[in-house]
Amino acid sequence: MKFDTVIIGGGLSGLICGIRLVQEGQRCAIVSSGQSALHFSSGSFDLMNRLPNGDVVTNPLSSVKSLMAMYPDHPYSKLGVEVFTELAYEAESFLGGIGLSMKGSANKNHYRITPLGTLKPTWLSTLNLAVSDSESSLPWKKVSIFNISGFLDFYPRFLADEFAQLGVKSETFLFSLPDLDHLRRNPSELRATNITRILDKDTNVKELVNIFKKASSDSDAIIFPACLGLKDSNVLEDLQRLVEKPIYMVPTLPPSVIGIHAQQYMHDYFIHLGGVYMLGDTIKKCEIEGDKVKKIYSYNHGDIPFMAKNVVLATGSYFSQGLIASREKIYEPIFDLDVNYMKDRPDWYDRNIFESQNYQSFGVKTTATFNALKQGMPLENLYVSGAILDGFNPIKEGSGAGVSILSALYIANRIIKKEGGI
Ligand SMILES: Cc1cc2nc3c(=O)[nH]c(=O)nc-3n(C[C@H](O)[C@H](O)[C@H](O)COP(=O)(O)OP(=O)(O)OC[C@H]3O[C@@H](n4cnc5c(N)ncnc54)[C@H](O)[C@@H]3O)c2cc1C
Repeated sequence: MKFDTVIIGGGLSGLICGIRLVQEGQRCAIVSSGQSALHFSSGSFDLMNRLPNGDVVTNPLSSVKSLMAMYPDHPYSKLGVEVFTELAYEAESFLGGIGLSMKGSANKNHYRITPLGTLKPTWLSTLNLAVSDSESSLPWKKVSIFNISGFLDFYPRFLADEFAQLGVKSETFLFSLPDLDHLRRNPSELRATNITRILDKDTNVKELVNIFKKASSDSDAIIFPACLGLKDSNVLEDLQRLVEKPIYMVPTLPPSVIGIHAQQYMHDYFIHLGGVYMLGDTIKKCEIEGDKVKKIYSYNHGDIPFMAKNVVLATGSYFSQGLIASREKIYEPIFDLDVNYMKDRPDWYDRNIFESQNYQSFGVKTTATFNALKQGMPLENLYVSGAILDGFNPIKEGSGAGVSILSALYIANRIIKKEGGI
């Protein structure tokens, strides 16, 4: 099977790279084992929330220079200030351009509301997610918080307590619908995705209108768990119009309906543009000649290799098994690429789980152009993108989605240029 580019891993990074490439007319395949980090995401994308020294970042564009000075091997340092800035803006227009509109800007972090009601800085948030421009206030005086009876992955009481500390009054409501009863018989079935499939039905949207109208007339907004719009995000628009009040969603504990919607939306978009997405297949080995990857092999396709001018490795970190940690070492399982990690295992982690964890910054080493390194030598047609990269700590810095998106766009643009595109 011959393609212009094969992308291994179909999470946020692989999909963005793939869409960008097919937009430019490339024949592109994404091979992906299964779920990605998006299935567990908050619905917001972080670019940079903190510097490595702990300083809070309010404007990622102006703070990135300090980050680069502290961490010269950071993926953002490889880009440099100018390209980082260009790509951050490109990412915003790219997402809007494919129909995945989000609010936020790289020159000012805003604050998303976590499932526990606290505020966390972030870059881009899904429209209709409850957010604030300020870390010390919320944009409402009074809200009505609704939850589904028996749903344990959403905590109205915590939200109400945190909101009260910021001077916002709340009233809380529990409701049920006959269609939810069969889920309620088994508490493990009463999960965000299952609930959403039921609430998204037209008949239940009408029921929700009646339920939401119970909110008092002096409440400014309705707050609801992110259990709407799995396939079609317009459900929320319709509901708001009928209720005549803004409705904002707060993320639940995983699975993340917003993240799954984004994953599915980008998957469909990629296929719609002519991309080939092979879900449930795993790349297991490769053939390398000189400085080029010649063939890659998957479980499902056995002896039939994938061949491509360029290959992008976007297999994620430990969570998605792009990196494997054994007792002795951390390795990349497909190409056995060079991985940056500390040799002594006790150095990998801090026993205090609230401390920065070194293992978070381990990853595949690359050149400044994100070409993979194997035994110190760059591979000319193998690029590395997203959470598998070394040199950044997505949790401590709040840079997870930013690195995944910016590296994906950088690599896609580089491949397009290399192959004679724009
Ligand atoms: C649980 C979790 C929640 C997060 N939430 C947020 C958030 O809310 N906001 C934020 O900014 N950042 C968040 N992050 C950081 C996150 O890493 C990035 O935001 C980003 O989604 C990672 O995307 P990725 O495509 O690089 O990797 P992943 O999303 O991990 O995708 C990698 C994909 O590669 C596939 N794969 C792996 N090995 C193979 C193989 N051999 N063959 C084929 N396919 C393979 C996997 O199945 C997976 O689909 C979160 C991370 C985790 C782990």
